[in-house]
Amino acid sequence: METPLPVLGIIVPCYNEKDIIADSIVKLLELIRQFTGSGIIDGKSFLAVVDDRSRDNSWDIIREMSSRHRELKAIRLAANRGHQYALLAGLLEYSEVTDCLISVDADLQDDIGVIAKMIEKFRQGNDIVFGVRNKRKPDAAFKRATAYGFYRLMNLFGVNVLHNHADFRLTSRRINVELKEFSEVNLFLRGIFPFMGFNTAVVYYDRRERLGGKSKYPFRRMVSLALDGITSFSTVPLRFITFIGFLVFIICLFLMGYALWAYLTHRTIAGWFSTVLPFYFLGGVQILCIGILGEYLGKIYKEVKRRPRFTVDERI
Ligand code: UDP
Ligand code: MG
Repeated sequence: METPLPVLGIIVPCYNEKDIIADSIVKLLELIRQFTGSGIIDGKSFLAVVDDRSRDNSWDIIREMSSRHRELKAIRLAANRGHQYALLAGLLEYSEVTDCLISVDADLQDDIGVIAKMIEKFRQGNDIVFGVRNKRKPDAAFKRATAYGFYRLMNLFGVNVLHNHADFRLTSRRINVELKEFSEVNLFLRGIFPFMGFNTAVVYYDRRERLGGKSKYPFRRMVSLALDGITSFSTVPLRFITFIGFLVFIICLFLMGYALWAYLTHRTIAGWFSTVLPFYFLGGVQILCIGILGEYLGKIYKEVKRRPRFTVDERI
């Protein structure tokens, strides 16, 4: 007996993409029809656009197209929440009615030509298939450099992210269902999926030019995404304070020794010793104490996330 074909959902977050959304929808629908035609995916597969409360007429375009195309579904968020949350909304909304979901940006900068490969890897038993870009030619040098810095910084702080993987990926039903358990408010999907584990695979592709419109990730938002990523996966910055505190404390011990020596050998003016000693002492103790507070804060922070502590992959 043949294994049943997977029902695929393609999730597209969309914010103010009036110039390109119709084009992208047409291209993706074509792809889905081609796959159902060639018997790779089930006929119930569909495309789902998540409108992140666009302020242009993107939503009207989407709604109009959905009346003409059976395979097009859409949801609209009540307010603009940003890329990560739009993605989350789509993944959770359609997790139970599909066998796998693929998320891809509306500008189709990520090569949808590798989607067939993603499905193949999924059918070989991988629960997550990461799209990773080979080179970033079409992006300006500045964007490339900041993107590189972004991944380096994340790794430096011990956040497990895949180099050059954005949010172009396939996730299986159980991953999407499991995602519900990650109830954190500060969402960093690029960190959550590698954190989950399971069998994963990678497909490589070349990044293209945006179809049209402008990037919604200016430098400011990249920095904010990096900070979100670090602070929602790592307590290294807090531990760093403890380290600094300890260092300062040791240095202050030496300085106190010096002050005492200078005092005893009468190399000081009156009042110097009694002023400078508590100064050194308190400085060291204070930073050390902040560091200790930070350690506990880090623990509380991890507890309040209520992340699943483990996930079972297989049972025999
Ligand atoms: N996007 C979104 N909400 C936002 C900003 C962006 O849903 O607040 C969508 C956008 O429509 C696109 C994707 O997120 O489909 C990625 O945005 P963009 O292409 O501007 O980012 P870049 O590729 O430049 O990093
Ligand atoms: Mg883009």
